[in-house]
Amino acid sequence: MRHFAIVGSGPAGFYTAEALEKAYGDQARIDILDRYPVPYGLIRFGVAPDHQSLKAVSKRYDKVAESAGVDFIGNVTVGRDVSVAELLGLYDAVILAIGAPHDRKLGIPGEDLHGVIGSAEFVGWYNGHPEFAELDPPLGGTHAAVIGNGNVALDCARILSKTRAEFEGSDIVGHALDALDASAIRTITILGRRGPHQIAMTPKELGELGHLDATLPVVDLNDFPPVESDQALEPGQRKSVSILREFANIRANKPKTMIFDFFARPVRIEGEEGKAERVIVERTELDEKGAARGTGETYEVPASLVISCIGYSTPPIEGVAYDERGGKFLNEKGRIADRLYAVGWARRGPTGTIGTNRPDGYEVADQIAAAMEPGSSQDRPGAEGLKRLLAERGVMPTDYDDWRKIEETETTRARPGSPREKFVRPEEWFGVLGR
Ligand SMILES: Cc1cc2nc3c(=O)[nH]c(=O)nc-3n(C[C@H](O)[C@H](O)[C@H](O)COP(=O)(O)OP(=O)(O)OC[C@H]3O[C@@H](n4cnc5c(N)ncnc54)[C@H](O)[C@@H]3O)c2cc1C
Repeated sequence: MRHFAIVGSGPAGFYTAEALEKAYGDQARIDILDRYPVPYGLIRFGVAPDHQSLKAVSKRYDKVAESAGVDFIGNVTVGRDVSVAELLGLYDAVILAIGAPHDRKLGIPGEDLHGVIGSAEFVGWYNGHPEFAELDPPLGGTHAAVIGNGNVALDCARILSKTRAEFEGSDIVGHALDALDASAIRTITILGRRGPHQIAMTPKELGELGHLDATLPVVDLNDFPPVESDQALEPGQRKSVSILREFANIRANKPKTMIFDFFARPVRIEGEEGKAERVIVERTELDEKGAARGTGETYEVPASLVISCIGYSTPPIEGVAYDERGGKFLNEKGRIADRLYAVGWARRGPTGTIGTNRPDGYEVADQIAAAMEPGSSQDRPGAEGLKRLLAERGVMPTDYDDWRKIEETETTRARPGSPREKFVRPEEWFGVLGR
């Protein structure tokens, strides 16, 4: 029997478990560890609450968790409760699937002012992430700025734009819904260093913006290259750019605006009494290589809430080779060292969709199966040894049935029109489990 530990229960962790199960059948026991008693990583705490259809992928992960060879072991933080070296002593292979939960820094003056927050914090707040539930983002001003030109920036801007009625059917947590409903924000400026051809926004996410009840998307056609040049773009990108162009033709009067400000690089954030009030932005242009080059011209964008959506990094774990520049584990096609692997965002950095993590998981499972042929065995204790070690340290692991109990409570608490109230406080998790 082989024993495998997958650290992290997001998409990458589950796809790897699925692939290992297929490769080894009943010749392996696969444990998926997570720091929380609730699984699915960013499917739960990242993907926008008004994109319910995407969250349905968790049903596929449920099937994996319910299969005979796979166990979910929650409430175990690797690097704190147990080290990677210890896991390597207990398991035949360890696969790190811990994602990239830390916001990258803007690296400009004023970043520490009150009201400047990273998207991991903001997204975590409206998704009931235990670390960010108390964030209380300042929504009392009329202007917000969102820095970045990817889908996460669009998520943040859209969530700030929607009316209470538009959250019907979402699983946004109650505390965020009430705060957003009372928000005074009327202008949301999305700042991108480069132009419309360089966005990393997908057609579906952009298309939604044309139909918001109370918010009008605004673009300046002077920022766009001649329309003929769109032909050179890859089809998905061409579609995104054409949706953006169409925003210029929407004729409607709505109380809020979402302004796409291209060729705009934030250089500092200013404000009195320690609070953000404005972003100072430098106008840019594209250089020969397509990078943003400052023109020296600056202007102010008023904002008492500034959300930076410029990427994430994986935290280092003691004893694991780390790529400082890439903000991820140092790996060769997923292999970090003998019997130690990385998958998902911890392997490639924070790019791609949920589905991009699938080939990652399968590739690493293939490597493991090549190194340790199915049918071969080794006398490592796996979960039994891990649970002994955790008990000695006073750490109480949770299992998949525990998660089901928590989920039941979340569903019972749902508001009318919402599938669940997923913010069950961490201290309540254990109350629900009767511990
Ligand atoms: C705001 C946001 C919105 C997104 N929206 C979409 C979308 O609409 N569509 C789409 O296709 N993709 C979307 N994505 C991308 C998608 O979520 C990622 O591709 C995917 O979640 C990455 O999977 P992962 O398993 O590598 O990491 P994660 O999903 O982050 O999972 C990592 C897991 O590891 C656990 N963990 C972390 N550290 C430890 C530790 N030390 N010990 C134990 N466990 C640990 C975490 O609790 C978590 O469960 C979005 C991403 C973000 C940030």
